[in-house]
Amino acid sequence: MADAASGLRAAAQALEDLSDTPRLDAELLMAHALGITREALLLDLPCLPEPDGFATLLERRIAREPVAHIIGEKEFWGLSFRVSGDVLIPRPDSELLIEAAVRIGAQRPPAQILDLGTGSGALLLSALSEFPDARGVGVDASAAALGVAHSNADHLGLSNRVQFQLLDWTEPGWQDPLPAPFDLILANPPYVSTAAELSAEVQEFEPHEALFAGPEGLDDYRILLPGLGNLLGPDGHILLEIGYDQADKLSQLAESHGFLAECLQDLGGNDRLLILTLASG
Ligand code: GLN
Repeated sequence: MADAASGLRAAAQALEDLSDTPRLDAELLMAHALGITREALLLDLPCLPEPDGFATLLERRIAREPVAHIIGEKEFWGLSFRVSGDVLIPRPDSELLIEAAVRIGAQRPPAQILDLGTGSGALLLSALSEFPDARGVGVDASAAALGVAHSNADHLGLSNRVQFQLLDWTEPGWQDPLPAPFDLILANPPYVSTAAELSAEVQEFEPHEALFAGPEGLDDYRILLPGLGNLLGPDGHILLEIGYDQADKLSQLAESHGFLAECLQDLGGNDRLLILTLASG
């Protein structure tokens, strides 16, 4: 029987042309096949056989299925989130929102947090894990996504501080059922242009309603921005994830609705986060 170490080497080679992280992908899949953590796999690698079922998992990855879907989870902000095809897989770039939230909340921790388009709940639950006295509301237009968010809240032990609401912001009066004001509003809504070319992993396996927002990718922000002022407490902050080429347009739009806007870049140096505060606050 093949040993795990050479199985990993062969798998990483097979994934080289289609993944940015071939070795990591192979390790996560093999650890999953063995039912152990990646750390345990690396520690015991010299003595392990290649597990049954590894080849099947590798085939799925070669067919471009994301690792997070194959193993059913994704790490974000040091926490493990369950994911499915009903939610966007949490991206490392989105950790920038949590970093900013922690910095802003260091002086005055938020008591009430709102997450618009919560999906797996990754942003809201990570923020709640940082602010032990805060309560959170996560909204999404997808009942299936909220099922995933609920299961994450349960398994992270945060259910008692979070509430999820099915809500579609394309409907008039969408803000009315929300228990405003909020000290912190997080949002990673769809912002990809319908003309954008995405990798097969994203295009074929992730929910399009969580990604695409019209020809400029701004449709959801055009709906959301006019309503956000009414949801925000006087010294509150809004943290919006944005596309690399959207900072100018969205800052202008936000300013026209009474906000001050500051833009921050992600690790790749791209514009990724807009921080809004009330200009009159
Ligand atoms: N950053 C995401 C991507 O990789 C897009 C997320 C979104 O539209 N909210 O495509």
